[in-house]
Amino acid sequence: MARVFNFGAGPAVLPEEVLEQAQKELLDFNGSGMSIMEHSHRGKEYDAVHQEAIANLSKLLNLPDTYSVLFIQGGASLQFAMVPVNLLGTGQTADYVDSGAWANKAIKEAKLVGNVNVVANTGKDIPTRMPRNADLKLTKGAAYVHITSNETIAGSQWKVFPKTEAPLVADMSSDILSRPFDIDQFGLIYAGAQKNLGPSGMAVVVLRKDLAERVPEKALTMLKYKTYIEENSLYNTPPTFGIYILMLVTRWMLKMGPEALYRQNADKAARIYQVLDSSGFYKATAVKDFRSDMNITFRLPTEALEEQFIKEASKAGMKGLKGHRSVGGIRASIYNAFPVAGVDALVSFMREFEKKNG
Ligand SMILES: *Cc1c(COP(=O)(O)O)cnc(C)c1O
Repeated sequence: MARVFNFGAGPAVLPEEVLEQAQKELLDFNGSGMSIMEHSHRGKEYDAVHQEAIANLSKLLNLPDTYSVLFIQGGASLQFAMVPVNLLGTGQTADYVDSGAWANKAIKEAKLVGNVNVVANTGKDIPTRMPRNADLKLTKGAAYVHITSNETIAGSQWKVFPKTEAPLVADMSSDILSRPFDIDQFGLIYAGAQKNLGPSGMAVVVLRKDLAERVPEKALTMLKYKTYIEENSLYNTPPTFGIYILMLVTRWMLKMGPEALYRQNADKAARIYQVLDSSGFYKATAVKDFRSDMNITFRLPTEALEEQFIKEASKAGMKGLKGHRSVGGIRASIYNAFPVAGVDALVSFMREFEKKNG
């Protein structure tokens, strides 16, 4: 069976050559006679994988050694809790931007831990958007400022990150390493791995090491960043297979060259937006200045046409185009590993569909 074009929002498409490599090594990793899944997380085979995954991420992020790369189970959703547990001291306030469904979940957890000030709210705006940096009403002496760099459901994306006095914290689940950015601007970033980095079930956390010292003494061991820093994410058994795939994905990114990859991402998105902008039939759902290069969301004139669009696209080998159940419409998720040929296919399908039904 031929592979389809998978526009799913996450878990999402992985580079084909990564899957092939994993398949090739599945029964016998590096001549060891076992799968990487069957190796001890303390053995030399897995250790090399673990170290390379961290080294690749550090290289891709241009990471200064004042930062650490951590692998933590529980996905981005556990980070909604770990960030305030570690960084929001008693009596302090954390600033949060409410930009949509994901930001909302982060805010909900932080409120269970301490004081939260919502410094801007575009979560319910239609068309969808991020706030302008000048509109953020930041708290003096805030513990940190939390943003969601890309709202996966709304299809909106921060283009220029705010400069903040308090450490900036970002949920980058759906756009980490999809475009150039300066890690120095952030105290902490985190991302569920299943969109741009690998399989689901774990988050990559990159943080300035000094921030990990803020954690209350009594916080639980597995919820402290300090534990993961001190044990190099090997305090307990990490998700070794997921980290192995992430290592292959980051190796693939380095081979392709991040600049080429980032350029390709921008081109892929621009080509779909061009169809939306030149059409009276399709309508992009995000404000132009904030529209996402990863999750392209749009509507058709009626829900019946949207249903037909999804059905016919699926028949033509384009899967996962249905918008999130909470908002409807169409969503084309085109993460790093999504092939250019898939964008070509969608663009011609959209033109053809408009011609027939517009
Ligand atoms: C997918 C996603 C999450 C949730 O990730 P899990 O790994 O399922 O916890 C959080 N934030 C954003 C922006 C996402 O896109």
